Amino acid sequence: MKELRITDSVTKIKGIGEKTEKSLNKLAIFTVSDLIRHYPRGYDAFEPPIPISSIREGEKAAIEASVITSPLVKQVRNLKIISIRVKDASGSLVLSWFNMPFLKNRLMSGYHYIFRGKAVYKNGVLVIEQPDIYTREEYQRKMNILQPLYPLTDGITNNLLTKAIRTALDEVELNNEYLPKSILKEYKLMSSKNALLELHFPKDKELLSEARRRLIFDEFFQFTLALSYLKESKKEWTNNFVLEERQECLDYEKNLPYQLTGAQKRAWDEIKKDIKSGHTMNRLIQGDVGSGKTVLAALSLLLAAVNGYQGSLMVPTEVLARQHFETINNEFLKYGIRTALLTGSMTAASKRDVYEKIKNGEVQIIIGTHALIQEKVEYQKLALVVTDEQHRFGVRQREMLSGKGEHPHVLVMSATPIPRTLAIILYGDLDISLVDELPVGRLPIKNCVVNTGYRSTAYRFIGKQIEEGRQAYIICPMVEESEVIEAENVIEYTEKIKEALPHAAVEYLHGKMKAQEKNDIMEHFSRGDIQILVSTTVVEVGVNVPNATVMMIENAERFGLAQLHQLRGRVGRGKHQSYCILVCGREGKDIKKRLEIMNQSNDGFYIAGEDLKLRGPGDMFGIRQSGDMEFKLGDIYQDAKVLMEANEAAARLSKEELEEAFLKSPELKMKIIEFKGGTL
Ligand code: ADP
Ligand code: MG
Repeated sequence: MKELRITDSVTKIKGIGEKTEKSLNKLAIFTVSDLIRHYPRGYDAFEPPIPISSIREGEKAAIEASVITSPLVKQVRNLKIISIRVKDASGSLVLSWFNMPFLKNRLMSGYHYIFRGKAVYKNGVLVIEQPDIYTREEYQRKMNILQPLYPLTDGITNNLLTKAIRTALDEVELNNEYLPKSILKEYKLMSSKNALLELHFPKDKELLSEARRRLIFDEFFQFTLALSYLKESKKEWTNNFVLEERQECLDYEKNLPYQLTGAQKRAWDEIKKDIKSGHTMNRLIQGDVGSGKTVLAALSLLLAAVNGYQGSLMVPTEVLARQHFETINNEFLKYGIRTALLTGSMTAASKRDVYEKIKNGEVQIIIGTHALIQEKVEYQKLALVVTDEQHRFGVRQREMLSGKGEHPHVLVMSATPIPRTLAIILYGDLDISLVDELPVGRLPIKNCVVNTGYRSTAYRFIGKQIEEGRQAYIICPMVEESEVIEAENVIEYTEKIKEALPHAAVEYLHGKMKAQEKNDIMEHFSRGDIQILVSTTVVEVGVNVPNATVMMIENAERFGLAQLHQLRGRVGRGKHQSYCILVCGREGKDIKKRLEIMNQSNDGFYIAGEDLKLRGPGDMFGIRQSGDMEFKLGDIYQDAKVLMEANEAAARLSKEELEEAFLKSPELKMKIIEFKGGTL
């Protein structure tokens, strides 16, 4: 009998003390189970040594070479640097190490080793810094082994995690195979235990790929099974909120500065039909960025309010919550409807005030972030809940929001371009309305992919757009300068822009700023007082400033295409011609090819499809397209086949098999209970 249980605290593992525990907590690792579910983000493979002449900058390589000079030790500031020159049949190269004086004796002229490290340019010549040193025998043993590389945090090294996970896997009882043999056989799945072992410490690439497939199958299986339970339970709900369209909605629609598109009208009709049917509406509005989903949320909320009920709208960021609040609050006042904003950053006192108003029905519309699903929020008569940018939430959060009422109508909105066959599975408990039409008169965004040499041209262009009264976003991946990651940062970039365009009003925005500051900046940008907004991806979701016409993205190579598409969606929202400038911080054929896809089309479906083709089935660790969904390993696009198989398998499980599965896997049972927010 093994000692360790998966529910034990990580401190039960040898070598993990209180201090390490604290650091592990930052990675959301509390229990042994969390630890063994902390999956590698990639693997380091020991490839055979290559000739010195074929080493390339920035790449990790192993060379087999002889030392041809005596070690040279130099003191540079507080660093002691040892360097030697080595050679093989193809050429020679300098290797250097910092603060490792003890190496001197191992590196005598004439010795022969395998050195492995990353090549960098130092004063114009290629050197390998801090290479690891192996004898041929040592290296041979390492070859073909894939070393896991884990997501890390301060105080946690890869070595520590590797050891801890190894120990945990050795000492914990892993008999959690919950799938019946017939399913394992039919879908050719590796056992659950082996999958976990092979994912962390793969014997070879094939086994790794099978292990991943099994674990992804599990993720999808649990998800679709939970969803089917949810759907089943919803069937029995009766609905007390029969909502009829009223004059106010017609009026609101008539007063819009535009006509609804055909697709919007269709979706609106579907919503109206649902909510007056006597059944609970469970509907997904799927529409690309800029297709005009917000107005559908607004109309539905208004309809709930004028029928005498409450409606709430949950969004993933404060910036977006505030923006929706500003618009809706203004527009609804004339119908006598009061709206409240509820976000995490509000003071305790103002939160209490809002809770009170929600509870006694003083406000009818409540707009906010996750704060809306806090325990303290009690509604008076909640008839409709809307989640915007649903891909940023889990099903559980959506259900928690609706759990605040007596089976209120549910409307969720998402821009994720999921093909219909998959959407039916992933949103199995929802009916789907497609908003597959952009408002008329929109000019397609003009795109270009450039390198950093193009910046001055881009700045001149932005300057001109500003003169014409337009505004621009510039996105940088980082907030401030970093020692480890080489990428543009918002703070320094803002200075750069101020210099290049001294007459422009430039400000920056990033997630680490105080909520109040963020709100002020966003408001000023919305009003046009700020002309150039240098920002991190905090503006990625939902933000709507139709007067902004330029989206310039620095280090575009660091973003996934889905994210780039979302960012680009911040422009092209008004009648003016808009532009997207993707600046590549690094050269590379693959990078260029990927970004070219953005150049080819403004259509989210097309982009997702092309991205998939480019990555191919072997590419396990590319930038995930659907990183927002609730899966750790599975990617709905790349693993679409596994998703369908898992869905099919879940549907086929007999009642007895299910009970058996719940017995064997408490994790599975928990997942379903969590989903439903109650009992099985
Ligand atoms: P998304 O679907 O990305 O949430 P929004 O609802 O924010 O898009 O709409 C984007 C912009 O398009 C907004 O400025 C909105 O006012 C405008 N808009 C929405 N519907 C129409 C329409 N039918 N005609 C013209 N403009 C529209
Ligand atoms: Mg939106």
